[in-house]
Amino acid sequence: MTTPPVCNYEGSDYQSSFWDKGGREYEDRTEAIALKRLLPKGGRLMLELGAGAGRNTPRYLGFDRVILLDYSRTQLEQAQGRLGSSKKYIYVAADVYRLPFVNGLFDTATMIRVLHHMADAPKALEQVKNALRSGGVFILEFANKLNLKAIFRYLFGRQKWNPFTLEPVEFVKLNFDFHPKAVHNWLKELGFSIERTLTLSHFRVGFLKRILPTSALVFFDSIFQWTGSLWQLSPSVFVKARRTELPGLHGVETSPALTNLVAFFKCPDCAFSPLIDRKSHLECLSCKKKWEVKDGIYDFREPIKN
Ligand SMILES: [Zn+2]
Repeated sequence: MTTPPVCNYEGSDYQSSFWDKGGREYEDRTEAIALKRLLPKGGRLMLELGAGAGRNTPRYLGFDRVILLDYSRTQLEQAQGRLGSSKKYIYVAADVYRLPFVNGLFDTATMIRVLHHMADAPKALEQVKNALRSGGVFILEFANKLNLKAIFRYLFGRQKWNPFTLEPVEFVKLNFDFHPKAVHNWLKELGFSIERTLTLSHFRVGFLKRILPTSALVFFDSIFQWTGSLWQLSPSVFVKARRTELPGLHGVETSPALTNLVAFFKCPDCAFSPLIDRKSHLECLSCKKKWEVKDGIYDFREPIKN
């Protein structure tokens, strides 16, 4: 099966170099505020796509279970170290273009700073839609190509790409910025309704970060976030979308018990479910592939070689 290339954080010290020591406290705190404003108070089962080392995971307290999904196994190991081995958290290494979940499983999903790395964003979004139950909530963050800095640079001839056009811009390999209208269109085509849009990181400017206390920047950003419903000109945008309610399809009633983890999964290659639990791996009876389960991490990236 051919899928678009994946930006792989395997072996990366992203959490430490970018977040812990990278002067990103402002961005982290504004994200916490946006999540509080957009997330449902709680729920049964939530999917965190691109969970990385679990920076945002403690913010999902109201959910009975959280599945942390990342392409990088080492990122998930860091998350395990940070969050401990609570039953609340389930760790899955998988490709977002081939999600290993049965349809309609989750009542909420988040995808923060992840679309940024998607060469085929609509394909990834469609996978998320399928994993959500009817009426399920999807919180999506994306990097906005139509930000003030890019607009000024373009108007003054210091940047070649046009921030006003709808196509994504790949400014560094596997790093994409998107036009807000394009993201809205994709979500609508997939049957999501958009309930709220917040803009973030209005003050992601080096000299402001140096001269003003972080708390002041966070405070002003928290007010400016609401302008996202009017216009989106900041580098980061959060959208709360809801999968359209389908008559007769209620995920909660049909989804498996939280204790029956194996029933969550389908084969990412042939979509067959249920998989058979062989302890060290899950086996697909249809295509015969085996998916490793090791040290608390379900690995659906590549099947085990026989
Ligand atoms: Zn299969």
